[in-house]
Amino acid sequence: MEKTEQPKGKAEESQSRCLSCGVTSASRPLVQLEFRGEERWVCVRCLPILIHGGG
Ligand SMILES: [Zn+2]
Repeated sequence: MEKTEQPKGKAEESQSRCLSCGVTSASRPLVQLEFRGEERWVCVRCLPILIHGGG
């Protein structure tokens, strides 16, 4: 059995996270985008939500 979950306790701040749900690219593909001149990341699950303006 493979263990995909990473142990808790060590939060890597340099890791990209979805701006909506906070998931990392380790769990779900992230798409890079630019928002107000800043680099942001959003996962493929939250991207449709942003497109539809649900926030
Ligand atoms: Zn997300």
